[in-house]
Amino acid sequence: MQIRCQQCHRPFSINRDAILAILEAMEAEKQTHHNADCPHCGKNNHVSRKELERWAPAKAQPQEPQAT
Ligand SMILES: [Zn+2]
Repeated sequence: MQIRCQQCHRPFSINRDAILAILEAMEAEKQTHHNADCPHCGKNNHVSRKELERWAPAKAQPQEPQAT
């Protein structure tokens, strides 16, 4: 996923495997956001769990288009 650093405004990415690991850790800690370190300036960037889950669904999501 692409993240734009809130500090230096440069983009960086987190790969899917890393996101899955992060989500697992967040689940264990019951966290709602993750601090992603910017590789450019080293600053923490808040990334919401929702955002992470959008990029790397932890479980197979039952995406039924219509349930009527
Ligand atoms: Zn930065």
